[in-house]
Amino acid sequence: MSRFLKPLTIDEAVALKKEYPGSLYLGGGSELNSPLSDAVSDTYISLEALNLKACVRGNHTTILGASTTFQELMDWDECPDALKEAAGFLTSRNVRNQATLGGNIAAHLPDSYMLPILMVLDADLELGNDEVISAVQYVQEHRQNLIINIRYDHTRGKAAVKNVLRSSGGLSVLSAAVCLDFEGEKITKAAIAVSGMGPKVIRLTSIEKTLVDGSLKPGADLEKAVADLVDPVSDLKGSAEYKKYLCGVTVQDCISRIQEAVA
Ligand SMILES: Cc1cc2nc3c(=O)[nH]c(=O)nc-3n(C[C@H](O)[C@H](O)[C@H](O)COP(=O)(O)OP(=O)(O)OC[C@H]3O[C@@H](n4cnc5c(N)ncnc54)[C@H](O)[C@@H]3O)c2cc1C
Repeated sequence: MSRFLKPLTIDEAVALKKEYPGSLYLGGGSELNSPLSDAVSDTYISLEALNLKACVRGNHTTILGASTTFQELMDWDECPDALKEAAGFLTSRNVRNQATLGGNIAAHLPDSYMLPILMVLDADLELGNDEVISAVQYVQEHRQNLIINIRYDHTRGKAAVKNVLRSSGGLSVLSAAVCLDFEGEKITKAAIAVSGMGPKVIRLTSIEKTLVDGSLKPGADLEKAVADLVDPVSDLKGSAEYKKYLCGVTVQDCISRIQEAVA
């Protein structure tokens, strides 16, 4: 590293990124300092002095500061259960003290713990260039813009998450998140997202539609539909067939947990 820059304002941080092409924002550094990470630069722009840590729950909207660490999120009294559980998938408290929400999104990890839940909450990201875009768009377009805040409407739906590790404390095979809204027993809104099934975290929009229009019911048919839709590759985390099966079962598990919670 030859330059370590510490801007005091968001505008300054954005301007420095433009001034030094190839520079990288530095959140908690848990990803950038990892020997496994291929994100390397000679110029790092520290986000520390921007103090993007405020988490606020309003009447309808929850706002999470991008530099909030996983541990700070878990310790926040008003943190919703599903987000707290997703943060806990990162089992090392030491790493949770480092890893930030913004860093988790911007690292574009295929096995992100946080993106599935943020995607099913329809979270929007406030960016340093004044844009507001969905977390889904940020991932699909592989954006690198500075993330200031993450916000979502907490009045809509009930969410559940689940993570599957290869072995205790081992590599993450997949994470799933589901958010459902009901009128009586009818599902009026469905959002499903999974990580670990390819290079990007994905929403399973075609399955979501069939759950809402009633042509697909939760249960064995849903497990099969999810397994048929995802297209993972075989690697040291498991064979493609195993991952497809596991993905179907895990999504159904999330749905069952939501159904039990609202019953
Ligand atoms: C051994 C190990 C294993 C891990 N396994 C997993 C895993 O399986 N799943 C998982 O989800 N997490 C995992 N993590 C945690 C992982 O590091 C997280 O993704 C973490 O949230 C990254 O946050 P950070 O602040 O440390 O990011 P950093 O390392 O600071 O940055 C990561 C990337 O995000 C960019 N960035 C940081 N903040 C912002 C911002 N506000 N706006 C725009 N860009 C930004 C950086 O430029 C960089 O490209 C693991 C960590 C370790 C150490």
